[in-house]
Amino acid sequence: MTDSYTPSGKHLIAGEWVEGASTFRSAPASGPAHDYAAGTRSDIDRAVKAAEEAFWSYGYSTRAQRAAFLNAVADEIEARGARITDIGHRESGLPMARLEGERGRTTGQLRLFANHILKGDYLDRRHDEALPDRKPAPRPDLRLIQRPIGPVGVFGASNFPLAFSTAGGDTASALAAGCPVVVKGHPGHPGTGEIVAEAILAAIEKSGVHPGVFSLVQSDTREAGEALVQHPLVKAIGFTGSLAGGRALFDLANKRPEPIPFFGELGSVNPMFLLPEAVAARGEAIAGGWAGSLTMGAGQFCTNPGIAIINGGAEADAFQTVATKALGEVAAQTMLTEGIAGAFRDGQARIATVDGVAELVAAGSDGRNAAPYLYTVSGEAFLANPGLAHEVFGPLGILVRVKGEDEMLSVAHALEGQLTCTLHMDDGDTALAAKLMPVLERKAGRILANGFPTGVEVADAMMHGGPYPASTNVSTTSVGTLAIRRFLRPVSYQNMPEALLPADLA
Ligand code: NAP
Repeated sequence: MTDSYTPSGKHLIAGEWVEGASTFRSAPASGPAHDYAAGTRSDIDRAVKAAEEAFWSYGYSTRAQRAAFLNAVADEIEARGARITDIGHRESGLPMARLEGERGRTTGQLRLFANHILKGDYLDRRHDEALPDRKPAPRPDLRLIQRPIGPVGVFGASNFPLAFSTAGGDTASALAAGCPVVVKGHPGHPGTGEIVAEAILAAIEKSGVHPGVFSLVQSDTREAGEALVQHPLVKAIGFTGSLAGGRALFDLANKRPEPIPFFGELGSVNPMFLLPEAVAARGEAIAGGWAGSLTMGAGQFCTNPGIAIINGGAEADAFQTVATKALGEVAAQTMLTEGIAGAFRDGQARIATVDGVAELVAAGSDGRNAAPYLYTVSGEAFLANPGLAHEVFGPLGILVRVKGEDEMLSVAHALEGQLTCTLHMDDGDTALAAKLMPVLERKAGRILANGFPTGVEVADAMMHGGPYPASTNVSTTSVGTLAIRRFLRPVSYQNMPEALLPADLA
């Protein structure tokens, strides 16, 4: 077997490879383009009906069966490792080493969820014993447990063709919960989606689960995505992508006759607050670290730290000089799609033309390539122009130079919801940090000290979400074991005979 993958271009619907009535052509960063089936409402309908049928067995399977299935998916992905990297690299332009790391994260997530459900804590079992003699009224026997919500629709993002896509965190957590999944394929990496779907199908066949448990419907138009969100048998959506796309689909989910939860993980500017003692002690190292984090993967991370807030003065000047030099030395990188490269240029032009914004680095970008941009603005001008705090997806940073602690706090208060906020601080900064903390807690799902927000640990204590517009659901995460909660709903059993209780409660 060679390391190259030639896609069939078909959908995978309930165990069958299905041709489309029409096709779309992929636009890889390198190598040949291919034709892919263009999903329609009827393809989605077929996939969702199969998912509903699968729910009647998969939704009632044991945790051990589901854990074995998740581990089998991880094994099958690993068995196709080099071919997945090959097509992922050709389609997305992401470096091979990055895709290998992302593949490890993807299989690690699947195995993490397998172990997590075996432990059983996620079921959050509760029991209020009957009090038949309680006055004035007896208390019934009440038992509560989490049950899978039903078929789940998943939309992955372009920038994580593996870890936030076909078999990524949303799919892994939904399958772990007991929910069949229908993925609307991302048109930026359809071949990568197809080979991962092939791995999932192999695991389905080896594990003997119902083939309707997973389908991939390829698409490059709105039709399939809208049909998935509107389908009456779909009970929740996991979405990772842009604010515009996520908001449009969130609104659609809420307009359904039966609204459903829409778990959208969207964009963020991930502000970093650079406190004076830390800047004085190690401003150069922080500036270098910022340049690295801001340009990693051509800046195409939802956790990209797009804004740094610093108090004015000589130390801020020195920081600005080092950051300018470090970013100016970063070469142009290939972006994920032509559309993202175009949106980056539009976003950069939007920032550059705001009154009070000064350019520090502008190496330029052309075609599908992007080089870094760095701008600076006063705290006053930043506060007067809320658009400066909106995500530009790519390697673009804004250094906000505030005049004193009060203005730094005003900037913190003015922020919209974020995935992350970061404090760079030393011991002498603790008093200011303590003033910022209550504000940052209200703004972000994850708060870091002395680090950079790119590189999200997949763990029990991870929160990867945040207040809107970072996500559409303030109380959930798409990364880490807590992500399973999105696809569960509590059911209470009152005075239920043991024989009728779910196996996990008995
Ligand atoms: P995107 O353009 O929103 O696309 C995501 C998916 O949604 C695609 O399958 C897209 O399909 C579909 N879609 C978008 N708008 C739609 C609409 N109105 N109707 C139906 N389907 C729609 O996002 P992207 O460019 O792939 O990803 C980059 C964005 O994702 C960035 O903003 C980044 O910050 C964010 N992101 C967030 C996280 C997180 O965890 N918070 C992680 C990674 C990335 P079509 O292209 O066919 O419309």
